[in-house]
Amino acid sequence: MTTPAVSTVVHARAPGKINVFLKVGALLDDGYHDVAIAYQAVSLYEDVRATAADDFSVRVGGTVELSRVPTDGSNIAIKAARLLARATGYRGGVRLHIDKHVPVTGGMGGGSADAAATLLACDTLWGTQLPREQMLALAGQLGSDVPFALTGGTAIGTGRGDQLSPALAKGQFHWVLALAEFGLSTPAVYNELDMHRDRHAQDIFPATTTPSVDANVLQALRAGDPLMLAETLYNDLQAPALHLQPSLSAVLELGENNGALAGIVSGSGPTVAFLVADHDGALELQTALEAAELTVVRASGPVHGARILSA
Ligand code: ATP
Repeated sequence: MTTPAVSTVVHARAPGKINVFLKVGALLDDGYHDVAIAYQAVSLYEDVRATAADDFSVRVGGTVELSRVPTDGSNIAIKAARLLARATGYRGGVRLHIDKHVPVTGGMGGGSADAAATLLACDTLWGTQLPREQMLALAGQLGSDVPFALTGGTAIGTGRGDQLSPALAKGQFHWVLALAEFGLSTPAVYNELDMHRDRHAQDIFPATTTPSVDANVLQALRAGDPLMLAETLYNDLQAPALHLQPSLSAVLELGENNGALAGIVSGSGPTVAFLVADHDGALELQTALEAAELTVVRASGPVHGARILSA
């Protein structure tokens, strides 16, 4: 009788994020923009389990709407695994299982978290021991939010968002997130912003090419003061997201009329993030938004970046 080989499963977890500040620079010649982002990793997690295999495959489950998640080679987790294999000369493959809790195309970096967790899980599974700096560089090749999903916590991202420096933050901030049934494509939202800026070129100051994060945001994060942070939440992508999905304005208004300190479209949307004073405030707002038949989850941050839970 032969004993079946026990296959090792490596379990990695990475967080979603909220951009508490997002300024978009002028459109550059290469079609991209520089940005200045204050990222906060929040307690909505993606779990990736990796098992050794000859080729690369992925299965996806979880608590969020999954119909927009590809399960072929275009899944960013497969791209991450292949990239790591190429960079390290590893010749085998991996079978990935992703358990998703971050809303898909919600502007909260769920795909980026999958990529970060996959890099870490495969590096452990394959024993490739990639130095941290090189892993961050690979993460940046996969997407501009992927390095932050690796580091987590609170950070400032400049350049394409991938040039990270840690920011000091105290305490925990409490968020209530109103999820949308539809997604918003990040390129479409940027495109709408460019068109808006073109249309209003006569009336608005031209955007700087190298934006920076407002000092008041950094101060609010350092102080751990939700009232102060509420005053400084900012997102250049909010107006174009609202233009593409006007129904989000009513969601913002509903939250702000029901105890939120402030509301903001998260990244390119359509998730709307409401900052509240504390845990009780979060529960109250959740009840009010659910009474209006919105799909709501609570989260707090900052939390850790990607890490291995078991191997
Ligand atoms: P960001 O905030 O980083 O702009 P997002 O949270 O708005 O991203 P994601 O959920 O990360 O959006 O996914 C964006 C797109 O990427 C989806 O349209 C989906 O088809 C594709 N995609 C590829 N791999 C994944 C994955 N593992 N999870 C989710 N989407 C994926």
